[in-house]
Amino acid sequence: MRKPMKPPVETTLADSIRIVAPLQASYLAWPVYWFCQASILTGLWVISHECGHHAFSEYQWIDDTVGFVLYSALFTRDGPKIFKRVLHETTVGLKSGVARATPGTHAVVLSDIGILALIYAIKLLVAAKGASWVACMYGVPVLGVHMFFVLITYLHHTHLSLPHYDSTEWNWIREALSTIDRDFGFLNRIFHDVTHTHVLHHLISYIPHYHAKEARDAIKPVLGEFYKIDRTLIFKAMLREAKECIYIEPDEDSEHKGTYWYHKM
Ligand SMILES: [Zn+2]
Repeated sequence: MRKPMKPPVETTLADSIRIVAPLQASYLAWPVYWFCQASILTGLWVISHECGHHAFSEYQWIDDTVGFVLYSALFTRDGPKIFKRVLHETTVGLKSGVARATPGTHAVVLSDIGILALIYAIKLLVAAKGASWVACMYGVPVLGVHMFFVLITYLHHTHLSLPHYDSTEWNWIREALSTIDRDFGFLNRIFHDVTHTHVLHHLISYIPHYHAKEARDAIKPVLGEFYKIDRTLIFKAMLREAKECIYIEPDEDSEHKGTYWYHKM
């Protein structure tokens, strides 16, 4: 007598698809989740940066609390608070006499406590959910936040049109204007417009993000040619700046020997 037939091929195929499809979908779904989550969290990072400048609310304690919680949750030290206003002011000053970064001890200790509390919270979460869950849900998006703000800061301060000064040429307004706005497309809005209002931020860092565009448009006519924006696609701009802005050299031809410009190799 013949043995019963094997299940039809369709069943086997359907089973394979059921097994394989979620796996393939996850290859696409995870990067999409990481990108979206990193973008949204970068928006929150911008809010905490703003709190460090006491620009988010009218109350110092609200800015301190919101800034501390958000920065700690995103594995970041409260830069503006620790270094006061110096962060932006030291990016283009070349001589040690120009850089006046004096970290406030209280802010450093507090931010250490925040980071240690976060590490402890991650430890508890790993024990409850497992390391790969925490890495996928939290680790990669936070890494994305750090990549985004390094990229944004790099592009704000790296461009062939941006001079650097030593102490013979440096003054506050020159340095404040040595930055350029960038266009991150639809991400501008998600990043609370920090990308295309940075010239304004260098001049008046206590203007909140929800008035930044309006304020930028108001100072543009006043600044005239001193206001700079480059709308090159971000990926293209990133590659171009990495190739063209390698080192700086003094402007030998002009009488301003203390002004330095970017050069490529
Ligand atoms: Zn700032």
